[in-house]
Amino acid sequence: MSSVQIQCTRCKSVFRDRAGRLQDGYSRQCPTCEVVLFFAEDSQHPFIKRAMRNARKARKEMREAGAARLAAPGPRAAQSRAFAGRTRSAGRED
Ligand SMILES: [Zn+2]
Repeated sequence: MSSVQIQCTRCKSVFRDRAGRLQDGYSRQCPTCEVVLFFAEDSQHPFIKRAMRNARKARKEMREAGAARLAAPGPRAAQSRAFAGRTRSAGRED
C-alpha cells in the first residue's frame, strides 16, 4: 500500500499516511503537535489540497496496477475434482 506525504497545517512538520485512507471526510492527528487535520475535497488549505491530490493519484496508480494484475491470465482455474462417488453400482436385485 503506498503512502503519501502530509504536511501539518499548524506545525508544518511532514508525515506520511496511507493513500487508501486519505479520502474526503478523513481526519487524523499530527504526530508532532497533535492537532487534528481534516481532509475534505473542498478544503481551501494548500497543504490539505496537495495531500488529497497526491492520495488520489496514488490510489489511481494502485487501481491501474491492480487492474493489470487481474487482467493477466492466471493458471488458477478452479480444480473441480471429479466426484468419483458410487454411481448405481449396487443395483443387482435379481
Ligand atoms: Zn503538527
